[in-house]
Amino acid sequence: MKKHNFSAGPSILPEFTKEKTAEAILNFAGTGLSVMEVSHRSKEFVAVMEQARELVKELLGVPEGYSVLFLQGGASLQFLMAPMNLLEKKAAYLNTGTWASKALKEAKTYVGEVVEVASSKDQNYNYIPKNYVVPADVDYFHYTSNNTIYGTEILRDPVVPVPMVCDMSSDIFSRPVDVSKYDLIYAGAQKNLGPSGATLVIVKESALGKVTRPIPTMLDYRTHIANDSMFNTPATVPVFGSLQTLLWLKELGGVAAIEKVNQQKADMLYDEIERNRMFMSTVADPADRSRMNVIFVMKPEYAELEKAFSDFASSRGMVGLKGHRSVGGFRASLYNAMPVESVQALIDVMQEFEKNN
Ligand SMILES: *Cc1c(COP(=O)(O)O)cnc(C)c1O
Repeated sequence: MKKHNFSAGPSILPEFTKEKTAEAILNFAGTGLSVMEVSHRSKEFVAVMEQARELVKELLGVPEGYSVLFLQGGASLQFLMAPMNLLEKKAAYLNTGTWASKALKEAKTYVGEVVEVASSKDQNYNYIPKNYVVPADVDYFHYTSNNTIYGTEILRDPVVPVPMVCDMSSDIFSRPVDVSKYDLIYAGAQKNLGPSGATLVIVKESALGKVTRPIPTMLDYRTHIANDSMFNTPATVPVFGSLQTLLWLKELGGVAAIEKVNQQKADMLYDEIERNRMFMSTVADPADRSRMNVIFVMKPEYAELEKAFSDFASSRGMVGLKGHRSVGGFRASLYNAMPVESVQALIDVMQEFEKNN
């Protein structure tokens, strides 16, 4: 039976990415060796790294003066690298979920003031705070563009008086972004890009070198800029896989083209959640709803059917639908690689379940 992979991360990747990576695992670029067993300094792998970094620039329209890096340690390491490299006096954070609050917590471990400009914790993070004020005297404003666990998303670059830092782990490459408004963008690869193990970083070079604290070599963005992401051994296979996804995305027409498909998929599923008498969204305001992670729960009167729906969906090949433990219910992650047909298959399952019960 065909599997429909709705996992939140690591998550579905394009067939193209999987096939090309599988080929390179056996014979990389005609070397007769596996991509797992060649030197990261071989000319074949250096070409992979360079092409991946160039394609990130091309697809996101990264301006001059920015460096693209492939690091390790996940988005979680960026929670501390960002303030370590950029926070001198004061930073502002928007708290929209578990990941945002973890980023905030790391910033607070440094000397400097950290302002939480707003939080949606009062309602289990089921909305995006509005009308908050970002002080003009902060070094940066940090936010999380897509809240993977709670299914909320900030679809437009916020308008604030300072440079921004953003955790785009779960919606990078899902739509256009104005990179020039950011000092730093970071994303773990494993949601919308490639296998886990690589972290994409886009950093404005002129924002660095302003803090007075000493920065350990490996945690200093300048180290990785100066060494083209090869200061130490990079995550070679995840970078190779990420490159394949970038090539796939370019072929599809880039972020503007995929955004249309992402909107279509999200509309299809949210419409069904609204229509179906058994389910409801946990995010009341449609403007706050994530296109990447669609959260839905049983309506209270059908609460006892949760397990039955889960089992029914599994029996039809649906995988990874279980909601995060802090929200419950279901979460359908509709990342770039998720085909429209799989979203339709889920909708069919929801409709059939409604009829049968
Ligand atoms: C998954 C996720 C993280 C955690 O990423 P790691 O690579 O596991 O550290 C952080 N932020 C967001 C928004 C995520 O979706």
